[in-house]
Amino acid sequence: MSLEPEMFKSLVRAAAEQVIASAPELTALDQAIGDGDHGANMKRGFEAVLGKLDLIGSQPLDEAIKTIGKTLVMTVGGASGPLYGSFFMAAGEALSGSKQLPDDLAEVFSRGVGAVSARGRSQPGEKTMLDVLFPVLETLKAEAGQSDLIERVRTTASEAVARTAPMQATKGRASFLGARSVGHVDPGARSSCVLLHAVCNTLEAGQ
Ligand code: ADP
Ligand code: MG
Repeated sequence: MSLEPEMFKSLVRAAAEQVIASAPELTALDQAIGDGDHGANMKRGFEAVLGKLDLIGSQPLDEAIKTIGKTLVMTVGGASGPLYGSFFMAAGEALSGSKQLPDDLAEVFSRGVGAVSARGRSQPGEKTMLDVLFPVLETLKAEAGQSDLIERVRTTASEAVARTAPMQATKGRASFLGARSVGHVDPGARSSCVLLHAVCNTLEAGQ
């Protein structure tokens, strides 16, 4: 099995469209514990990705994923732009080496998560996107090759988003609120979940 270029393009399109459609929700979440720009940031970034879809679809997979990363770094802004950008650039870098999709999915995803953690100097438990990305990585490692992997990833992501609500933020803008950050879902955790669900749903529809 390999990831066909047309399927990859569909995944990128679906992820971008879903995050753009979720902009109002992401904005509302960021209004509660940040500065209210996460929806607009992500919308701007993924509109730029959609604008490069033909280029992305024509590139080898590693280059295509790096193009996504660079585009996000240049257009998303805020804290999340360099973080999402790092994720995709590191994942693309992993694929430039010996790693392949879908066989090395957990390893490639791990490189992306590691880059976010390094760039953000953050760890799971600090109420950020890592609180979704890290549990999903754990699921990818534990469930690789299982027939219900897509469903497990989707459930892991949704449950992980909900678990950010009772956390107190210790990284990013929400950390300025201290204990007042408790009781709200983290916007970046939610956008990660939206992206992952779009990928899962599209993979499932293509099976
Ligand atoms: P900004 O906080 O600069 O306004 P955004 O609103 O676009 O940027 O993104 C905020 C999201 O970025 C947070 O909800 C959180 O998930 C994520 N984030 C912020 N700082 C970090 C960090 N150091 N490590 C991981 N994720 C972070
Ligand atoms: Mg913000």
